Amino acid sequence: MSDNPGTAALARMLAEAKRVVVFTGAGISTESGIPDFRSPGGIWTQMAPIYFDEFLASEEARRETWRRRFVMEDTFKAAEPNRGHRAVDALVRRGKIAAVITQNIDGLHQASGIPPEKVIELHGNTTYATCLDCGQRYEIADLRAIFEKTGAVPPCSECLGHVKTATVSFGQSMPVLAMQRAEQETRAADLFIVLGSSLVVYPAAGFPQLAKHNGANLVILNREPTPLDQMADLVLHEAIGDTMGAAVGVN
Ligand code: NAD
Ligand code: ZN
Repeated sequence: MSDNPGTAALARMLAEAKRVVVFTGAGISTESGIPDFRSPGGIWTQMAPIYFDEFLASEEARRETWRRRFVMEDTFKAAEPNRGHRAVDALVRRGKIAAVITQNIDGLHQASGIPPEKVIELHGNTTYATCLDCGQRYEIADLRAIFEKTGAVPPCSECLGHVKTATVSFGQSMPVLAMQRAEQETRAADLFIVLGSSLVVYPAAGFPQLAKHNGANLVILNREPTPLDQMADLVLHEAIGDTMGAAVGVN
């Protein structure tokens, strides 16, 4: 047991909970070397997003989207689950966690060993691509090799649709099934833990509020304050890996 009172309180709440839902944002993956968006120096401070409509409408926007994606590829490829991911995985194995709802697109929860069906991805996944029309899957490494030769990612070989990372872009509709499952799991939870989200993006930030209104205890573990701190039962402004690792007993 930790001698940090916040960590000890988290451990106690975990022990008492019957059905935990964890909600993760970019902050859980910074310790794996993937920058978040809103910390100082984060991606948002460097470039404006490309909206889904622009991607559909313009060859130039598609090129620029893919160029940015391939710039990030070495970072994504090298990233491995960290202590925070391992702690969450341990809680899944112990049967504590019913579902992990994530805003992340890096696939690191699955890489830590959590069965894919327990990970609800609200913003999709950037570790592979799909055709927007027929759903055919494409691997990033293959597309990158073509892009480096020709300067573009070609249309789908099956149907000529646009090929895009399997993420939800700005201006693209949220995945209906994932949103429904996330809502169900949130309503069923008696403990809802936010790990590393600035909680400013909706609809995702609505889930902690929904959990709280349904009577769950709410924990927010985030280096910086969030707009929802005041409604949480426990707020920890600490690093995720060490705090979760200590609370769960995982290295
Ligand atoms: P965000 O960038 O808005 O906020 C991350 C929060 O995590 C910040 O408040 C920061 O203080 C905190 N944080 C960072 N490292 C931490 C650590 N080690 N310990 C504790 N707290 C830490 O992230 P968001 O709320 O997830 O929203 C950004 C959007 O961008 C998401 O919707 C997501 O789709 C996308 N995104 C994903 C990734 C990824 O998949 N790894 C990375 C960047 C952005
Ligand atoms: Zn296709």
